[in-house]
Amino acid sequence: MEEERVKHEILKLGAKRVLLQFPEGLKSEAPRLAKIVEKTGAVPIISADPCYGACDLPTAEAESLGVDMTIHYGHSKLMKHERVPTIYVEARAAVNVDGTVEKALSMMEHWHNIGLATTVQHVQTLDVVREILIRAGKTVMIGDAGRLSYAGQVIGCDYSNVHSIAKDVEAFLFVGGGLFHALGVALSTMKPTIVAEPYEGRAFSVEKEAERVMKQRWANIEEARGGKEFAVLVGLKAGQMRLEQALQTKRRLEEKDKSVCLLAINEITPEALMEFPTIDVYVNTACPRIAIDDTARFRRPMLTTNEALVVVGELSWEELCKKGLLES
Ligand code: SF4
Repeated sequence: MEEERVKHEILKLGAKRVLLQFPEGLKSEAPRLAKIVEKTGAVPIISADPCYGACDLPTAEAESLGVDMTIHYGHSKLMKHERVPTIYVEARAAVNVDGTVEKALSMMEHWHNIGLATTVQHVQTLDVVREILIRAGKTVMIGDAGRLSYAGQVIGCDYSNVHSIAKDVEAFLFVGGGLFHALGVALSTMKPTIVAEPYEGRAFSVEKEAERVMKQRWANIEEARGGKEFAVLVGLKAGQMRLEQALQTKRRLEEKDKSVCLLAINEITPEALMEFPTIDVYVNTACPRIAIDDTARFRRPMLTTNEALVVVGELSWEELCKKGLLES
């Protein structure tokens, strides 16, 4: 958790009050880390609100609490500028990945050219993973499109690194926990994606889940075609606000005779949207993963902006699949 660097940065800035922000999986560490911050003489305040990514910095909270600095744990820097000085503690995982990569290799016998991807928690393992694959006779590629902090890194809504090499590889190996990011790799590239899951020590394919999501997306688009009243959601979280994209989407839908309103929203929940019963379709310009992963929770179809273009015939389903479901 880079305790020494954190203390050093606080002292360097002369911060007297510090806001600590954690994603859900790391919140249990917060009281211990707050005590370490306290030793510098600064007052630590822990943000207890949910935090979904580095798009979700607590800027307004930091300003209203009058803090001198925010310490964001668990993600790498995403926004170009922060209004409150912010340091990022990426929280690298100490788990060994070799065994699960060996297991994953047995699922990749038919492919020669492999792309690698991971989250910031495991970027330090990519050199080792590459070596294991090369020893097994594979050709390995790691994309670096320059948008994220590290080559090969993916985040929930940015797969530019894998996208940049997708045409040159037959399959991807994702190193890391869970399904969320690996599914994003598959949906962005439409390539077979194998997960080397070091926490449970197993390897698996996300193919079936990707197929299920694709079918669901198609069903959502079909249902939305009959919709008349559209709402374009404008995210209020600092790193999720895409007002220009929302305004443009509104214009394009109106040109196709849809009635469109803009909804500014911080937390996109079924309860919040239920208050607008006349809306037939939501187009989400904030976090695209809410449309992709949580769609079943909403009463009406929720689409990404590209899916909305498919609904009004400006983009074909085939073009969308080629582009990748999570590409903007
Ligand atoms: S917009 Fe969504 S997917 Fe992207 S970083 Fe934020 S929470 Fe994650």
